[in-house]
Amino acid sequence: MTSKKSWIHSFNTVQENNYDIIIVGGGPAGLTAGLYASRSKMRTLLLERMGCGGQNAITDWIENYPGFPEGINGFELASKFEEQARKFGLEIKTEGVISIESTSQDISGKAVRTENGVYAATAVVIAAGASFKNLNVPGEVELRGKGVSYCATCDAPFFKEKDVAVVGGGNSAVQEAVYITRFAKSVTLIHRRDRLRATAILQEKAKNNPKIRFKLESVVKSIQGGEQVESITTENVKTGAKEDLNVQGVFIFIGHVPNTEFLRDTVKKDDSGYILTDENMQTSLSGVFACGDARKKLLRQVVTACGEGAAAAFAAQEYVEEKRGTAYK
Ligand code: NAP
Repeated sequence: MTSKKSWIHSFNTVQENNYDIIIVGGGPAGLTAGLYASRSKMRTLLLERMGCGGQNAITDWIENYPGFPEGINGFELASKFEEQARKFGLEIKTEGVISIESTSQDISGKAVRTENGVYAATAVVIAAGASFKNLNVPGEVELRGKGVSYCATCDAPFFKEKDVAVVGGGNSAVQEAVYITRFAKSVTLIHRRDRLRATAILQEKAKNNPKIRFKLESVVKSIQGGEQVESITTENVKTGAKEDLNVQGVFIFIGHVPNTEFLRDTVKKDDSGYILTDENMQTSLSGVFACGDARKKLLRQVVTACGEGAAAAFAAQEYVEEKRGTAYK
């Protein structure tokens, strides 16, 4: 195994691995940061562990991103973001980031380590997003891909004329429940409270959809099946009454956990792992900025992710200019 001293030495000597700004994550926040940084003539690298687009890319229809009055498919929007960022020179590599370290106060003082190597940067923008939260009930792991799903756009077409359960009461659960009705015979939306968290317009759509029924104040206790999901057991949170529901699919949309574990203690986070920043997206570590769903904030939307990505890139650019001694003051 390479010692820390030797990999720091090796990245310092490899000029082609030196960037002004490195962005971690290729969702809307990261791609917008990439667009702004590249357009400002910063030598910018975006590192994304899978394909670009983030959760946005697996959303069927986005109707609250300005400029698309009819709405737009999430994958299409993500592809447009990527195309626009690349047009201005953003370099994108498919590599998962393992750690970020501040190695010195020099111009190349940040080391970004991936599974393939080490890159140096003056500033880093973390836009690592968030991942789906698990329900953690018996049967969930065993039946994943056999009826248990976290992505309606990917899997809903497999449930033509089937009975399906959707778990959660937020925007994702309600929006995706409506989408799944294009295929499924029935959708039972199961939520632990007596009312939904989702915005009024989405609730209205779901309530007006004859294929959707609501099972409120209920939680899923277990998922049963063999080769495929066959049923779930729910429990009423008030009465404790249990019920078995015959369904062939269970879509789980109960929120997210931020993808910030790789950072360990590099930057300050809240108790749930969301990165703390000031209003300029500056984290607790000078020269490291954060934006998008991995950041602690009130509203998680494509439009807020993009706004933060632009702000983070601008702040990172100012940091680079200061390090170079070329800041316009
Ligand atoms: P969310 O807003 O955090 O909602 C998660 C839902 O799951 C909540 O209703 C929560 O219940 C429930 N839940 C959490 N843990 C649970 C558990 N262990 N068992 C059962 N239920 C559980 O997450 P989201 O819906 O995925 O949305 C994430 C973000 O993306 C939000 O900011 C949302 O506004 C945004 N988004 C926006 C749109 C849109 O604008 N069209 C679409 C999708 C997502 P409680 O309510 O009791 O906490």
